[in-house]
This record gives sequence, structure tokens and C-alpha cells, in this order.
Amino acid sequence: MPGSTDQTLRPFCWRAARMFADREIVSRTHAGIERYDYATYDNRTAQLANALEKAGIERGDRVATVCWNHHRHFETYFGVPGTGAQLHTINPLLPDEHLQYIVANADDRLLFVDPSLAEKLAGAASDDPGSFESVERFVVMGEADSVPDVDLDPLTDYESFVGEHSTDYDWPRLPGEQPAGMCYTSGTTGKPKGVEYTQEMLWAHAMATMTPQGLDIDADDVVMPVVPMFHVNAWGMPFTTTAAGAKHVYPGPSPDPADLADLIEEEEVTLTAGVPTVWIGLLEHIEEEEVDLSSLERIVIGGSAAPESMIRRFDDLGVEVMHAWGMTEMSPIGSVSHLKPEMEDWDAERRYEKRAKQGLMVPGLEFNVIDDAGEKVPWDGEEFGELWIRGPWVTTEYYERPEANEEDFEDGWLKTGDIVTIDSDGYMEIVDRTKDVIKSGGEWISSVELENALMAHNDVAEATVIGVPHERWQERPVAFVVPGANADRENLGEEVLDMIEAEYPKWWRPDDVVYIDEVPKTATGKFDKKVLREEYDDESIVEGEAPEEAAPGTD
Ligand code: ADP
Repeated sequence: MPGSTDQTLRPFCWRAARMFADREIVSRTHAGIERYDYATYDNRTAQLANALEKAGIERGDRVATVCWNHHRHFETYFGVPGTGAQLHTINPLLPDEHLQYIVANADDRLLFVDPSLAEKLAGAASDDPGSFESVERFVVMGEADSVPDVDLDPLTDYESFVGEHSTDYDWPRLPGEQPAGMCYTSGTTGKPKGVEYTQEMLWAHAMATMTPQGLDIDADDVVMPVVPMFHVNAWGMPFTTTAAGAKHVYPGPSPDPADLADLIEEEEVTLTAGVPTVWIGLLEHIEEEEVDLSSLERIVIGGSAAPESMIRRFDDLGVEVMHAWGMTEMSPIGSVSHLKPEMEDWDAERRYEKRAKQGLMVPGLEFNVIDDAGEKVPWDGEEFGELWIRGPWVTTEYYERPEANEEDFEDGWLKTGDIVTIDSDGYMEIVDRTKDVIKSGGEWISSVELENALMAHNDVAEATVIGVPHERWQERPVAFVVPGANADRENLGEEVLDMIEAEYPKWWRPDDVVYIDEVPKTATGKFDKKVLREEYDDESIVEGEAPEEAAPGTD
């Protein structure tokens, strides 16, 4: 017999607002620190739901956000899906061309944007107005005086948009399969691919990741997601934190390490989460400044591998690192590297070796590791293959992308593109990636797009781009160029870099251009990046030229 209701998000908020009514939601904004409680939050989501209804948003419509981590963005997390509409969180760090594609592909009807991101959005919209045709209204996340002078029409401010509405809203009973969220992944070649999250996917993800074998969130936690809310719902933490009735802390637009340290100290954060680049910054900061981290118990590090040295460093500070792995396609959390109880007695070396792996799958997921011959590999920690995974919060398709579906899914399994080993204790370790992409500071750079841009230059005969390891950004792009016969070798490197910078975000600019005589090829004539990767698997060729100001992971 089925349960009396489906698995949906609304009961999390309902419960928190009643059972933890005075727990706080704290937000760093341009205007300073703002705070209110769950009871107020619940009322404001109801006002938002009424405002959406008045604006003609109906069940199944998409409502987009282009926002940093703050309380208003959090209001859309329950306010939008609670009405039956679908919350589409957009990554503002993407190239304009991707933004245009994403808005048009998702058919967004209403778009919330931060004041500091409005200009970028307006640029993308005016460049290709057709791609924004579906958007009937833009809402700036702030008060009336925060509305910037940009070409987005019609443009309202959030407080006026929601302010006049009732705090009573008759939340509909929704089916579990109702689409509730959406996020695009640029994790492979070609156009970004949309992943839809249903109510029950987000519910199941929250329930599983709330457990001690997931992210271990409880009502006494103070949770600060630094991972952006446009990155797979900040790894689901706004939902999980609400389900647990814990306090939320949102670090606002582009927080720097000092901002994070202040928030940890002043709000007594117990649990935070983000990509390794963020924590490199925080660790440097606390070496220079006196910071009281005594409230901080745990950090979730994911998106890229957490270096073992970082896990050790945080241990020294009394902070436990939970190394997590996930994907946009998985809502996103798959595994967390917790030690099993019997391992607590192991010597330190063995324990760190385990904790630096991507870890044990969260309860509810199933997986296989498949080698080139299509066979399952043994769990010996040595043999590797591609990780295939399935579960209640793993998608089975991309939105309107049949060709990608054919490639990335089989019999209900998601083929992750991650090459892994599983050891005899069941711990997964990523050893390689089949996806032809570079992950810098937690954000993707498409090597194929850069290659196409390079090869469009008249004096470039051939070019390829690989990611090389980098201490701060985990990976940075380096271009390998075969100059044409008449190329001015002296200036070609700078010229192609300038060309890329004009077309793509600054942080996509390769850190170096290396001239080569030819791009190594496989037997079938494809670029063989493995050869170059092996040759240039050396941080020394990238000497910190990565852009400083665009700290993608921290933004
Ligand atoms: P997210 O950045 O939220 O994890 P993406 O879909 O953008 O989600 O990226 C997923 C990919 O990132 C994975 O398939 C894997 O290649 C890489 N990744 C994620 N977490 C880790 C990790 N802990 N260690 C190594 N790689 C990781």
C-alpha cells in the first residue's frame, strides 16, 4: 500500500517552521548581515508563492535564479517548488553563450537575479534577445533601491514583488514525480545538459544525506554552504538543513576567506561545505590572522578531490573533513569518505589513506564498475573501470537531449565518466576521468570549446587543451598549439590567449601556450591527450598565472 502522501519538500519546511520556529536563517548581503527565523521564513515563502501565482506562474512552469547564496535565494528553494513550479538555478559564471542556451532550452518564465549579476545577465540577454524570449519578468533580489540601471524588462525588486502578498498560501498536494528543480551540467563536451530533479528525488537525497553516513546534519547544527546555491542546490544543503531544523548561514556574494572566517566565528558555524580551493584560501587566512574556529566541527569537501594534506591540516585544527563525491546528475551526493567504526583504531597513515578516497556510497545507491570489455571489475583497489550508478536521486535522462542520453545512460544506470577503483572495504577512489573537461576551482572549462576557438585562428594548424594539476585550482588549462607555416611564433601565444579572453570568461584563459610539432593521435586519428597529460603531469609548468579575482569556487 502506498503512503498517504508522496515524498515532497514542503513538509520539511512546515515542520521546521513549527518545531524549530525560532531557529535562525542568517545571510550576508550587500546591506550587511540579515537574520530572521524559520517562522518568518515560512511566511515569506508563502508570500513568494502568492506572488508567483499572481504573476501567472503555473504548475510545471520554470522559474530561474541567477543568484549567490543568501536568504532570498533560499526562499525560492521552498517557495517555487512548493507551488508545483520548477526552480532552475543558473550558474552566472558560465560564458554568455551557455547562459543564452540554458535560458532558451529551459523556457524560463520568470528570472530572479542578484543586483551584482544583473549587468552580466543583461549583456547576455541583449546579445541574443531571442534566447530570453520566454522570460516574462525579471526580479532583482533586493529592495527597491537595489535595482540597477540595466536593460532587463520588465524589472521589479523582490521585496515589492512579494511584499504586498498574504502570508497564507494553500500549498498544493503534489505528486512525487513533479519536477521541482533543475540544473545544467557543463561536465562534458557540447552544449550544457539539463538535469531535472523531481520532488521525490530531492526528498530522498535530503533524507539520505542527513544521516550520519551522509553529511550527518542535526537540529543543533549551524550549517554554512559555501558551495554556490547554483551548484546542484548547494549540494542539497538548504533542503537538508531545513529537514533537520538546523540554523542556516549564507555567505552572500563573493565571500573572501576573511568573510567566511567572520561568519564561522560570529554565527558559531558547526558545518560548512565547499570545493578544495575555498579551503586553501581559508587555511592561508588563518595562518595570518587570529581566527576562532572552535565552533567548527565538520567540513564537507567535494567537487574535486580533497588533498590528503588538507584533511590532515583540518584534523590538526580539530575539524573533521568529510570528503564527498557527487555529480549534477545525482542531486548531487553519491559517496562520503567516513571511516567504518573498526577503522578508528587503525594507525594514522592507513586512516588518512582511506579518508582521502572518495569513500562509501550513501545508503540507497547501487553501483558497478565496468571495464573496457564491459565486465565488472573486482573490488581489489587496483583494477579500475567506469563507475555506473543508480538510485532514487540519480537521474535517468537529460532534458531534451536524446543523443546524450544514449551515450550516458544504459538500462537505468548513469555512466558517470569517472574511472574508479573499489577496495575490499568498499571505498571508491577516482583515478581518472573519461570526460574531456577541466575542473578549475570547482567550475568546468570545456577543453573542446577552447580547442575549437584556438583552431579558428588562421595561424594555428592544430591545437589541443588539457588540464594540468594545480595546487590552488586543482586543474588549470594549458594549450598545446601547432603553429601554422607562416605563424609569428613570437606573438602567436599571446594573440590566441587574448582571443580566448575576449570570447570566454577570464578564468577560461589557458595559463600557458606550449608549441608542439604535432598533436599526438590515437590509432583512429583522435587527439591522444593521455600522452600530453603524462608528459605534462607537472605543476611546475603552470606558475600561478591563474586569474586571481575570478575565484570561481569561492564565488
Ligand atoms: P559537483 O561539482 O557538484 O560535484 P559536477 O556535476 O559539476 O558536480 O561534477 C561532477 C564531477 O566532478 C564528478 O563526476 C567528478 O569527476 C568530479 N568530482 C566531484 N567530486 C569529486 C571528488 N571528491 N574527488 C574527485 N572528483 C570529484
